[in-house]
Amino acid sequence: MSSIRAVRGVRDILPSEARRWQRVEAAARQTFEAYGYDEIRLPLFERTELFARGIGDETDIVKKEMYSFDDRSGESLTLRPEATASLMRAYIEHGLQVLPKPIKLYTMGPMFRYERPQAGRYRQFHQLDVEALGEPHPALDAEVIAMLLDFFGGLGLADRLELHVNSIGDPRTRSAYTALLVAYLEPLKAQLCGQCRERLARNPLRVLDCKVPECQPVIERAPSILDSLPPEAREHFETVRAGLDAMAIAYTVDPRLVRGLDYYVRTTFELKTKDLGAQDAVAGGGRYDGLIKQLGGPPDPGIGFAVGIERVVLLLAQAEDSAFVQRGPRVALIPLGEAALRRLLPVARSARRQGLSLELGYGARKLPRELERANRLGVRWAVIVGDNELAKDEAVLREMVSGEQRRLPLGRLVDELRTLGQAPAHGEEGR
Ligand code: AMP
Repeated sequence: MSSIRAVRGVRDILPSEARRWQRVEAAARQTFEAYGYDEIRLPLFERTELFARGIGDETDIVKKEMYSFDDRSGESLTLRPEATASLMRAYIEHGLQVLPKPIKLYTMGPMFRYERPQAGRYRQFHQLDVEALGEPHPALDAEVIAMLLDFFGGLGLADRLELHVNSIGDPRTRSAYTALLVAYLEPLKAQLCGQCRERLARNPLRVLDCKVPECQPVIERAPSILDSLPPEAREHFETVRAGLDAMAIAYTVDPRLVRGLDYYVRTTFELKTKDLGAQDAVAGGGRYDGLIKQLGGPPDPGIGFAVGIERVVLLLAQAEDSAFVQRGPRVALIPLGEAALRRLLPVARSARRQGLSLELGYGARKLPRELERANRLGVRWAVIVGDNELAKDEAVLREMVSGEQRRLPLGRLVDELRTLGQAPAHGEEGR
């Protein structure tokens, strides 16, 4: 019988990689909490209508990429393609606007988009998502961007990323800019790729985002959205930039940075890398002041970003030096025979309850095989108890790398392992 494989564009995160994921998640929690953000956990599916209204009917996500299905009652549901709309829904539904503003929230988990899978692009992928709600001040925009960079700094990845910022004005003036853009693009249509010709009709701003080489000369000479900003949006952007400058944060102003979701207004930003080939965007975000109202809530402004965890993990893997040793269990308890196993079962439990990470053998294999297994697991100490040791209620403690051995009373073993556990293991110095 043939075996069943995972769905295209969906991947397993195997244990060898999972530690990197844990590092990313821990760094995120640490940074976000330092800035006063609380976690919110959201459902993986919502009513389809939420995304149609929240992300925009004409966006690629809603038009082509959603995993939508009718459930058994005939209601149309969708696996979330992003977290912002769900978070806004929860904000409105639970009346979170009564909390002191800005209300600062983060969440993390899988998102689903029917995209063409390739390296760094999947159909189930994961994001860290951060939103600050109820505060229009541009200093918040600068602070949110600083937090994003601090998260990457905590992972040692800051120097692999470039910050791009832009302002896309508000919906009112954007339509004037869009008209300007269409008037510019229309006569040059023949020079654009097929997808851009289609975008020109449906969502012309997205042409600016196109990566296809043949479109670049046309896009480069397009009118800049920054020249069409109304005075308030211009002032907002200048204050954001002044905030970034005050924190000595380097950035590039990129008037082509329009982002793929309809809800953005004013500030947009993205972190790009040169180290991941075509999938160069690692994180992106912006302001979305009208979104909560559009979803039936209060007229509260908002700003946020999403980080693609897969791409962070890829960067992290590249950045790790080859001496990196996966942190497996540090101790292997090796009983030789049933009686020794019975003696070591409670010892292992007690050690684990005190936070030590250890492996227990089951007494059936010969010592060389057990030591070989301990070696493959990368443990640092082996504790061996055979009949001789058992008779004296002792254990042999063996340093795996040097092979040095000494005896100690079993009653003192856990304390001794705890003391040894404080010392760094090979390859862990300075981590
Ligand atoms: P977006 O929600 O489209 O603004 O995306 C935010 C971030 O999520 C991007 O910068 C990527 O790092 C990541 N991302 C978006 N789509 C995918 C995907 N299909 N596979 C992997 N990562 C993705």
